[in-house]
Amino acid sequence: MAKAPVLTPRADDFPRWYQDLITKAELADNGPVRGTMVIRPYGYGLWERMQQDMDARIKETGTQNAYFPLLIPQSYLTKEADHVEGFAPELAVVTHGGGKELEEPAVVRPTSEMIVNDYFSKWVQSYRDLPLLINQWANVVRWELRPRLFLRTTEFLWQEGHTAHATYEEARDFAARIHRHVYADFMENVLAMDVVLGRKTAKERFAGAINTLTLEGMMGDGKALQMGTSHELGQNFAKAFHTQYLSKEGKQELVWQTSWGSTTRMIGALVMMHGDDDGLRVPPRLAQVQVVVLAIKGDEAVLAKVREIGDALKAAGIRVQVDDRTDTPFGRRAVDWELKGVPVRVEVGPRDLEAGTAMVARRIPGGKTPVAVDTLAAVLPGVLEEDQALLLHQSRERRLSRTSDVTTVAEAVEATDAGGWARIPWAALGPEGEETLAEHGASVRCLLAEDGAVPDADDAPGNVAVVARAY
Ligand code: AMP
Repeated sequence: MAKAPVLTPRADDFPRWYQDLITKAELADNGPVRGTMVIRPYGYGLWERMQQDMDARIKETGTQNAYFPLLIPQSYLTKEADHVEGFAPELAVVTHGGGKELEEPAVVRPTSEMIVNDYFSKWVQSYRDLPLLINQWANVVRWELRPRLFLRTTEFLWQEGHTAHATYEEARDFAARIHRHVYADFMENVLAMDVVLGRKTAKERFAGAINTLTLEGMMGDGKALQMGTSHELGQNFAKAFHTQYLSKEGKQELVWQTSWGSTTRMIGALVMMHGDDDGLRVPPRLAQVQVVVLAIKGDEAVLAKVREIGDALKAAGIRVQVDDRTDTPFGRRAVDWELKGVPVRVEVGPRDLEAGTAMVARRIPGGKTPVAVDTLAAVLPGVLEEDQALLLHQSRERRLSRTSDVTTVAEAVEATDAGGWARIPWAALGPEGEETLAEHGASVRCLLAEDGAVPDADDAPGNVAVVARAY
């Protein structure tokens, strides 16, 4: 008899499957205020590993961490018109504090360009103060009308980078560096996620930016998810906040700026990109537990063996956990580790002891084989690297096999209706076609140059639009 599925199968109902997985893998719960989220330890552990890796990459660019306040005076919001208009519908406003109505209401930050720039304008005096490269790890609040755990929550955790430079070129290059060498590199090499790097159209650009660079991933159902963004802000905020520097030539000049963010949405992306009907599949380089060593039965010899294997694997540099909770049935524990997506399970029972082997179950390709206990520490690092590469390969194959080249808006809509992406010359689509797509629930995820690179302008000849339905 086939075992009953633990999760709603993806093919039956992808959104239900996503919800089921998040609950059963103990990643998160809904918070009491609509749109908020409680991140449970297993989910938060994923975030901590993401933070550690990203933080190191961010610091390699010369950026330093700082912290700005959660509350922003409401008056700041009148300063940069596009930015304000873009964020106004999503703001949470504090009107009372200490039992009294506030003289000036405070806004809970939806992002920190405004408050950061107020201080940048004080800190930047001369060309010697540039570039100014700041990042903060924080929470922000955007009152989302259609919330979904991790993907779109009212409060989310993120890093937001804010930089000021002396020239346009320097700011442009820095935004591009974050896009490719921090975000894309991290997503491909650690999260094992295929991402398309492109440029947002004017319609999809960040409010207040002159250019938005994006990373788009294809989820298991063929929809797109914006995984992170890096913006060139031009001098828009510098003008609004009078952020100027005295140049080498003794002239007052406005700075050129960037901002860039990536969030707990990446956990949702991990689920939707790598998850299957049995649960999550965590890429080994991200996993806080790469290998779990399970005792099938609670007899002394087995328990001693799993601990010994655990020590040997730890010594080989593997992040390992020993599961000796033999008062819980083995089958339940195995299903639980499968749900949580731990890449490798090493299962040890009395019969394995006699044979000098352990059963190695691989979550990512699937399948189980007996492996000599003595060779585990030598074999498993290679297995983990193989699985890391396999996940990236699978996500890339999915996108390539579900993307079609089309020439008309109607064909683009058809492709996205069928659960895929379409590539269409931007010249054949344009802002008008973009509106038509919106009426059909699709959008331009990004523009690519003819050779697949990130184009310098929306209307550069040969630009191709990547069209999809998106989360
Ligand atoms: P932005 O500051 O609007 O460019 O947002 C930066 C990144 O945050 C986007 O690229 C999204 O990946 C992510 N993001 C935006 N809104 C949310 C949300 N409500 N919940 C989680 N992540 C979000």
